[in-house]
Amino acid sequence: MIAPRYPLEGVASWNMNTTCNYRCSYCTQRFVEDRGQLARDLPRFIAAFAALVGDWEIKLSGGEPFRHPDFIATVAALATARRRVSVVTNFASPLAELLAFCDATRARPGLISASLHLEYAEPEAFLAKLVAVKAHHAGRIVATCVATRANLVKLEALQARFASAGTELRVQPEKQDRDVIDYDDGERQQLIRLGGHNGTGEIEPSFAGRPCWAGARYFIVDHEGHAFRCYPARRYRREALGNLLDGTFALRADATPCRYDYCNCTVPQQRGMVDTRRT
Ligand code: SF4
Ligand code: SF4
Repeated sequence: MIAPRYPLEGVASWNMNTTCNYRCSYCTQRFVEDRGQLARDLPRFIAAFAALVGDWEIKLSGGEPFRHPDFIATVAALATARRRVSVVTNFASPLAELLAFCDATRARPGLISASLHLEYAEPEAFLAKLVAVKAHHAGRIVATCVATRANLVKLEALQARFASAGTELRVQPEKQDRDVIDYDDGERQQLIRLGGHNGTGEIEPSFAGRPCWAGARYFIVDHEGHAFRCYPARRYRREALGNLLDGTFALRADATPCRYDYCNCTVPQQRGMVDTRRT
């Protein structure tokens, strides 16, 4: 297959801490021994992100990135380095902190991906905050919710409620041990009706063998600077790209074939880095 066109803006997903104020039953990090780990040498991280060639978006996640003690200062420093800044957040922070993120990114706004965790958050309060932040944010905002079996029965009504407030609510299949749980046929049909994984129309998208720009115009990096091509690459400990902080980091020059049967990376799919059309 022919690779999609060169993506003009690259994207780095930075898991900047493992800290979180929630303990969701489906959290992929719940087996991490120390949920208090943080990116510490922030000036070196900022310098490394600033040195990336061309336009880049830095997508901050964790854990819960707003729990990093230097979160807003880091956002401001990345914005000063002319990086677009996006965030994946559980949206539990006070409204003033969420608005501070909008202010810090106003010159080059990114995406706020707000995760509704029904084990902790009350939907109407979450939605009210979402509407307030949306009115202030110059970029895009989208809500997501994990389709646990307990949530599945509520999601159709929740999507309608969010749509009535002018906001999209995307669903994400539940994973345990990083694999999608064993939904039965009825549950799978329900998931597809809800849009599938993040609106892709599929539950376990697969692009194995297709050229993908992940590794060249997309990468993921943890709080210690270890970088991988994408989340499945990190899971299998393959296709490491070195460490962002010690001089070993190197991106590929081109799109290369995907080596994974299940792609749970939203960014390459939604930014045209891999051909997602069904064959
Ligand atoms: S909010 Fe996110 S990081 Fe925190 S426990 Fe839930 S799934 Fe994990
Ligand atoms: S798993 Fe997804 S992001 Fe990773 S190489 Fe394959 S298509 Fe690209």
